[in-house]
Amino acid sequence: MKRRIFLKVFAAAAGWISVAKRSFAAVLPESSAVPGGIAIKHLGASVKPPRVELGGKRVLVAGDSTGWDAVVGISLKTKADTSININVAWPDGKDETLAIPVGNKDYATQELTVKPGQVNLSAENLARHRRESAHLRKIRSTYSEPLLGSLILVPPCEGRRSSSYGLRRVFNGESRNPHSGMDLAAPKGTPVLAAATGRVVDVGNYFFSGNIIIIDHGLGFLTLYAHLSEMDVAVGDAVQSGMPIGKVGATGRVTGPHLHFSVYLNAVPVDPALFLS
Ligand SMILES: [Zn+2]
Repeated sequence: MKRRIFLKVFAAAAGWISVAKRSFAAVLPESSAVPGGIAIKHLGASVKPPRVELGGKRVLVAGDSTGWDAVVGISLKTKADTSININVAWPDGKDETLAIPVGNKDYATQELTVKPGQVNLSAENLARHRRESAHLRKIRSTYSEPLLGSLILVPPCEGRRSSSYGLRRVFNGESRNPHSGMDLAAPKGTPVLAAATGRVVDVGNYFFSGNIIIIDHGLGFLTLYAHLSEMDVAVGDAVQSGMPIGKVGATGRVTGPHLHFSVYLNAVPVDPALFLS
């Protein structure tokens, strides 16, 4: 399923010179205010950006003194056809709560039948998975300043999209977590590229995800690359958009070589397709 991505460029009324002066952050991803999507909420003008939070997590704010926009990640667990509230604290001390309507999106369902032992983990693996989940939750909550690059991502590898974000997976009739990223099928050894400029915040081996790299792009915007056969960066490394960071593999619990690619905003995984030009 191909979708066209429209880039929103907020051109300043003053003309091209002002447009050129606006930072890369002025180019925003596609707004899709549904569970698993992103909402772009215009906030207004002020010299310094307001501090925005959703459920206690900092929300990305882009723009400049002529106008700021909140780029809000909406959890896939958010109920459809409802609304979420962001808290906006302005530098002058004014606080406000803004409601953002959230629509509905029907994600596909995939029914899988596997051997019973493959669905439920052993006590040992379950303990390992719980430790890893706690660690990854902490990494996902990374919030650093400033934004280091573009909000529009480059494709992290050449490959066919074999599974989309949000796919509901049912194993032997039991619901499992929906797909938190996009899968790109590619032969083992295919280079994996940093989707945007940033700083490496995690490199490790995990039970489900295998070898993974997580890059912090600033303001709570992170990307994750999983099932790698090779990892060529270390925690703390600065990476440029399009730079090779590792290679496609089949590590972790997978059926074949592919890249699992996730995008996080305010600590929730959102649909990577909204950020790919
Ligand atoms: Zn995946």
